[in-house]
Amino acid sequence: MFRKTRLFTPGPTPLLPAAQFAMAAADLHHRTAEFRALYTKVLAQLKEFVGTRNDVLLLSSSGTGAMEAAVSNLTSPGDPVLVLTAGKFGERWTAITKAFGCNVEVLNAPYGETFDLATIKAALKPEHKAVYVQATETSTATRHDIRGIAEALKAANSQALLVVDAITGLGTTHFDVDAWGIDVLIGGSQKAVMIPPGLAYLSVSDRAWAAMETSKNPRYYFDLRKERKSAKLGESAYTPSVSLIAGLGAALDYIAGQANGDLAEGRISLIENAETCAAMTRAGLVALGFTLFAPTAPAAAATAVSVPEGLDSGAVVKELKSRFGAVIANGQGEMKGKIFRIAHLGFFDYMDTIALLGALELIARDTLKLPVQFGQGVAAAQQVFATRKPKQAYEETFAVTV
Ligand SMILES: *Cc1c(COP(=O)(O)O)cnc(C)c1O
Repeated sequence: MFRKTRLFTPGPTPLLPAAQFAMAAADLHHRTAEFRALYTKVLAQLKEFVGTRNDVLLLSSSGTGAMEAAVSNLTSPGDPVLVLTAGKFGERWTAITKAFGCNVEVLNAPYGETFDLATIKAALKPEHKAVYVQATETSTATRHDIRGIAEALKAANSQALLVVDAITGLGTTHFDVDAWGIDVLIGGSQKAVMIPPGLAYLSVSDRAWAAMETSKNPRYYFDLRKERKSAKLGESAYTPSVSLIAGLGAALDYIAGQANGDLAEGRISLIENAETCAAMTRAGLVALGFTLFAPTAPAAAATAVSVPEGLDSGAVVKELKSRFGAVIANGQGEMKGKIFRIAHLGFFDYMDTIALLGALELIARDTLKLPVQFGQGVAAAQQVFATRKPKQAYEETFAVTV
């Protein structure tokens, strides 16, 4: 059979054709009126996409560059900070804060689980300058309750800045950045915004700007104050990834186009899309006899699935690629061989989801020797699709009082 390559990885994700055309056509110099018009438009769109009145800055780096900026700009050597970690990306916060000399306290949740809010509240100390956490821990496909964590900070009277790596959270999770008091929220280009890796973006609150005036850690390329000054003039401090910025503009136009030009509504529909694909995938896989790795707090960004004891998840990854051209992700670190991960963030739809489940039925039967009835996983997914409400996740996020 012919194979079409399809990415189902939680970064990079499939590229939006309209963004690819815009990138190919972006032959412009970055110190011109044309670029300033593009940059100003994209920065304004990003604010709408993030859903905040705070400044939103763009950096030409992968997501980790913005994570580093959120440490180097906000802290001084010796500052006590709290890192909440439940996976590989949480561990990255620990590594970065340590690299910049912070006095790091770490609160762990087991892989595949999220934090207990009362434990976070008890761990907060008045001297903590910042709390670092993921919105969705991509390595385990677990969602953390950012609203609950923000409330815990308030309840503990904490003055700590709340810094959220939402690199796979944006476009898959509803946030109210300003109302909840998220000081820094970080996104990356190769995730829900459907363009290649190479851009990071972040919203920065007034409290975070104020902290930068006294923080003493070294910074140069990622000096956010310098970026803000340039952004006000429609430029970036250094040569930006011009083509990616053009692609990002096209992608944000496309997201707005899904809701008659309203980008805030388009963001809601992008999130609901990921939620729907995720719910379909979970139901389909459970119906096939798989065990979800993060059943209590599953992310919509991706789904992590355990393979039965004694089997290798790498076999599923390999077979999907060789038989069907579909690329999924293995577990990272010690989870390698134990789980596989399927992405839902960005340019995925009902068709993709059903097709992947159909392929997984064959692999579950032929490779893992599970007792599969064809159609079993697909039918469970269709059932979910048929009963899902249009703004279900949005209502679930904002209806609950904490
Ligand atoms: C992809 C990802 C990152 C960023 O990694 P880069 O390789 O630097 O782009 C950070 N955090 C999470 C949760 C991610 O999924």
